[in-house]
Amino acid sequence: MGFELDRFNGDVDPDFKCNLCNKVLEDPLTTPCGHVFCAGCVLPWVVQQGSCPVNCQRISTKELNHVLPLKSPQPPR
Ligand SMILES: [Zn+2]
Ligand SMILES: [Zn+2]
Repeated sequence: MGFELDRFNGDVDPDFKCNLCNKVLEDPLTTPCGHVFCAGCVLPWVVQQGSCPVNCQRISTKELNHVLPLKSPQPPR
């Protein structure tokens, strides 16, 4: 999962990279401990391991929250 970096011009902020696939976050989910991963990376991990993929604390899938996508913001109405 995740986008290939060469689809983006220039440098990519490391904050927008997934620690599991090392690619740009795709459909990012944030953990209660503040880590962010692709939904497709973190969901199977949390289901199996029951913890944050960087091993900082135990979490459940219910604690994962969607963060704003990196795409263009909603136009004002
Ligand atoms: Zn990922
Ligand atoms: Zn964490």
